[in-house]
Amino acid sequence: MTAAPDTMMKADDAGEASLVSTAIVRECQDCGLFQTVAPLPSGDAAHCRRCNATLRRGARGGMNRALACYMAALLLLVLAVQLPFLDLSAVGRTYTATLFTGPAQLSDRGMWEVSIVVLITLVAVPFIQLLLILTVLLGLRGPNPPPALRYLFGWVETLRPWSMIEVFLLGVFVAYTRLTAIAEVKVGPALIALGGVMLCMIAADVELDHEDVWDLMETRGLTAHLPSQPQHPLIGCDCCKLVLHARERSRCPRCGSRLRRRKPQSLNRCWALLGAAIALYVPANIFPVMTVIRFGRGEPNTLFSGVIELIEAQMWPLALLVFLASITVPLLKLAALLIMLVMTGEGSVTRLRDRTRLYRFVDSIGRWSMIDVFMLTVLVAVVRMGFIAEVIPGLGAIAFASVVVLTMFAAASFDPRLMWDAAAAAGHDLEAEDLEPNPPHAQTLFKAGAP
Ligand SMILES: [Zn+2]
Ligand SMILES: [Zn+2]
Repeated sequence: MTAAPDTMMKADDAGEASLVSTAIVRECQDCGLFQTVAPLPSGDAAHCRRCNATLRRGARGGMNRALACYMAALLLLVLAVQLPFLDLSAVGRTYTATLFTGPAQLSDRGMWEVSIVVLITLVAVPFIQLLLILTVLLGLRGPNPPPALRYLFGWVETLRPWSMIEVFLLGVFVAYTRLTAIAEVKVGPALIALGGVMLCMIAADVELDHEDVWDLMETRGLTAHLPSQPQHPLIGCDCCKLVLHARERSRCPRCGSRLRRRKPQSLNRCWALLGAAIALYVPANIFPVMTVIRFGRGEPNTLFSGVIELIEAQMWPLALLVFLASITVPLLKLAALLIMLVMTGEGSVTRLRDRTRLYRFVDSIGRWSMIDVFMLTVLVAVVRMGFIAEVIPGLGAIAFASVVVLTMFAAASFDPRLMWDAAAAAGHDLEAEDLEPNPPHAQTLFKAGAP
């Protein structure tokens, strides 16, 4: 299914009269190619004809069902922060932990940096995200929706990568498997509630088409009016994905964020963040992440010796998971970003599509490295039996959490479109990279987006 020429023209004129159109224009965020995307059936996706990035996913368009899912998620999250999530029984005593016990223990032991990262990614961001989206969806149902709703909805996208409930659940699973070797562990209601939050959020994502929400805001008169400025080239909004003819650095009429052709100071920022991450990667691997004390004795564990210990305990799948998450992924991220920065700087034309795929991969897996930090938080929260068994966090944990956060920021600040710009500047024919002339759903409308 491809867009008809008349709908393409309508989409081209976005920005002037109406932002609502059957076929929408999208800029591929990974290679900078502008394409029209026809409406999609639920479960389908439109891909970039050049780099295969997902341009738009067909949602079921059930705004009411999405609203119900978000409400359920908020309710479950409120329960999750109040109820116990793990019970550990040993030598006649039971130790109960809530989601806040781990961060509190970490900060008591001087690790407030790790504690803050855990609280932000596990509680604060999911809460804010849910409150924002519920305010928007409920506000749009009212008779006079406030214009500020459009800014709030813009923030929902921005916060998304920092909500890490699913990573935490995997971290709990790793900790749980290790704990069953020490004592009797019981899963508390908060953990089930958190699982529910995750499922509700996934269900809501399947239902809600963000483009529908923006369309509704447009019909309710919440978006600003920006006259078409055909003298300026097309520009795509990084936040809400609207494409229009506008001046660089002007405000997006939909979400209000600044329009920029490319992420500002992308390469410099990425170099700085990557340099800091590489510097911290050394202490993250040298210093112990934690010390497990049993009957008064215990050896400090680094990231690597932690994996060895799991292998010795015959916990092979777990050892592999921790090895991938805490050693392979950070190293891969650092190496990949370094390669991309150097090759972009040199204006390389080789393997453009592969590099773009690598960027997408690196950007999406980075957060899973937090498994180790979450596992530590859980262990510190429940293993508090003094002489019999205790887990003491080590300095390596701060360095490791910093590496994860810094590489996430580094990947987010890198603009993969610059790789394509650099190749084009070096005289490379970008059209030669096209995967197929007419992929389903997406149709090239414009030549490569010139910076
Ligand atoms: Zn692309
Ligand atoms: Zn926007």
